[in-house]
Amino acid sequence: MASHNNREERPDGLDAVFRPRSIAVVGASTRPQSIGGNLLSNLFRSGFTGKIFPINPHASVLHSVKCYASVRDVPDEIDCAIVSVPKEHVLAVVAECARKGVRGLVVITAGFKEVGPEGAALELRLNDLVRKKGMRMIGPNCMGVINAEPEYSMDATFSPTPASYGPLAFASQSGALGVAILNVAQSLKLGFTQFVSMGNKANVSSNDMLLYWENDPRTRIIALYLESFGNPRRFVEITRRVTKKKPVLVVKSGRTVAGARAASSHTGALAASEVAIDAVLEACGVSRSDTIEELFDLASALASQPLPKGDRVAILTNAGGPAIMATDAVIQQGLRLAELSGQTKRRLAAFLPPEASLGNPVDMIASASDANYGRAAKILLADRGVDAVLVINVTPVLYGPRSVWDALMAATAAAKKPVLSVFMANEEFYDEARSMPAHPPIYRFPEPAARVLAEMWKIGRWQKKPRGTFPRYRVDAGKIAPILARRKRRGGGYLDPDDAFSVLAAAGIPVARPVFVRRESQLPSGARKVGYPLVLKATGEKIVHKSDVGGVATGIRDETELLAAVERMKGELARHGAAADLEGFILQREARGRELVVGATNDPRIGPLVMFGLGGRYVEVFKDVKFVLPPVTREEVLEALAKLKAGTLLSGVRGEPAGDREFLVEAILRVCRLVTDFPEIAEMDVNPLFVSSRGRGGLAVDVRIRVAAPENAGG
Ligand code: ADP
Ligand code: MG
Repeated sequence: MASHNNREERPDGLDAVFRPRSIAVVGASTRPQSIGGNLLSNLFRSGFTGKIFPINPHASVLHSVKCYASVRDVPDEIDCAIVSVPKEHVLAVVAECARKGVRGLVVITAGFKEVGPEGAALELRLNDLVRKKGMRMIGPNCMGVINAEPEYSMDATFSPTPASYGPLAFASQSGALGVAILNVAQSLKLGFTQFVSMGNKANVSSNDMLLYWENDPRTRIIALYLESFGNPRRFVEITRRVTKKKPVLVVKSGRTVAGARAASSHTGALAASEVAIDAVLEACGVSRSDTIEELFDLASALASQPLPKGDRVAILTNAGGPAIMATDAVIQQGLRLAELSGQTKRRLAAFLPPEASLGNPVDMIASASDANYGRAAKILLADRGVDAVLVINVTPVLYGPRSVWDALMAATAAAKKPVLSVFMANEEFYDEARSMPAHPPIYRFPEPAARVLAEMWKIGRWQKKPRGTFPRYRVDAGKIAPILARRKRRGGGYLDPDDAFSVLAAAGIPVARPVFVRRESQLPSGARKVGYPLVLKATGEKIVHKSDVGGVATGIRDETELLAAVERMKGELARHGAAADLEGFILQREARGRELVVGATNDPRIGPLVMFGLGGRYVEVFKDVKFVLPPVTREEVLEALAKLKAGTLLSGVRGEPAGDREFLVEAILRVCRLVTDFPEIAEMDVNPLFVSSRGRGGLAVDVRIRVAAPENAGG
């Protein structure tokens, strides 16, 4: 798992698409409004360095270049074909391309999977053909591809906006957004290595693109616009590795991974929610943005600035208000305000007016000149206690923002620390910036700049952080396998409580063994086996959440209380209309401590997802939970735990003793092991898992485990 061979992993054949020596445009046309016409003129406009062969049976010359009726008629070799013909002809064209020896395809034509089952069937046939012939295909239903590297200079899209060369590689699942992406990039002066509109991802997936860019030395930043995860498990595996080498920025539209599905467990319900996707992306070190704009805020900073080596920010400003906003934003993003050294303050005092404030934020007041900005920025960058500088400029009276900007750029161009600039100027300045050569980003407000800094710090930390140690816990497979198999033979579903507790115990998690009694008359003898104080619970296949129907009574100290509790419980059950569901009782030792939840889901597409956090009855109310994707290290679990309010609770609040964190971490890791070894566990909840004070362990008092239906049963 840890040592992938990257060369092996690099997807084959994509150079035929992105680095071709010759391109055929099938469906080229003279009509400028047509897609084929735009494609052809974009190829010429971009100055593609290879040969271009327009293919159109109804023309003999296009763009002053000889046009062929079919790829077969082309006397040269063709590496890549851009296909933009009516969908009925796509298969025939691709077959011809195969015969001609074409290795790369970009199928622009729409009308496939995206339009319904018939289109999906056609797409399947198309992809079969492509695979059988050993070709690689982008699309169908896409806007095309760009390779802006000077050696290729290829724009094979029908986008009106061209792309310049730079460090960003972008894969967009949406073609329409592709145009917007190219527009934003152009206005920010951000260049690409490759840009690809993925379309339906029939043959080449976003995962393939990640692998293609993983070791590409020119691609320094990878950005993805995703609507769906084709293979989320694989995405996690790949990005976990790639993000250690270069930032991967993702805009994921649609906030759920698993999609909405009926889930009766706490974990299932939460896994289908937005919480899980964030966890998935966080687990692999991806930087998630909510919007394209946010993504570019970050991308343009990454393109021009080094990563910070720490979280200490110095703020340099000429106005108090925005500096307060910036301070708030910096703190809110989890960064710190740098403590400036005495030397830094003396150096600043040497040229700033006495009214200036030399703490952090450094407020040079409204009279600050362009030269002041340059000088002060340099001094702050030289302070060893400063990891990043956030510059704020509110257009002063005497100096235009442009001259401040120029002075700042001159002073900080060679800096080894990031400098992010917020210019609160009038519209003319931003217009002017668009005509400046490539430059670091200019933010209009402190908040996005602070967010970007925080994200950069996160990336820097992630790249350096070792994953930690994978624990070696074992589960007792000999005990677990037969229990699960039995349930599976009966069509899957929830284990009865006795079996569920056995599985958990065999996974090495301490359980408060329940004693079952069918009849009320057996309660006193059952209770003597358990010992007081104890807990009484109603059980029955239809009783899902016992406390919802009054089926849990705690703190029972003797037989008298037990008998009273039974009477009360029967009344409660009747009141909730659950009297008929009662099949018996559970007697259980009373546990003490904090109530946590540990649960798991096993989605066939995502694999195991383990959740933990604040437990008890309000799990879904507070949603104070984190997800991890096994395999995880002890350190990763600890880090996730630290972000929970429940994690704070474990440290002991208001003089109470700290909880047994070690116990909890081990229980989480054991659940990880359990659901990895037994993927037939579709869902499980341990809620609550009582965690005692440090060194005293804990106990699981309620467990639900659902076994997946056998595959052939259509589950
Ligand atoms: P359900 O989840 O079906 O409602 P639980 O068995 O989780 O039933 O019990 C509900 C609540 O009762 C728990 O969250 C906990 O507060 C309390 N409880 C249950 N069992 C015990 C026990 N053995 N010791 C102490 N408290 C318990
Ligand atoms: Mg429970």
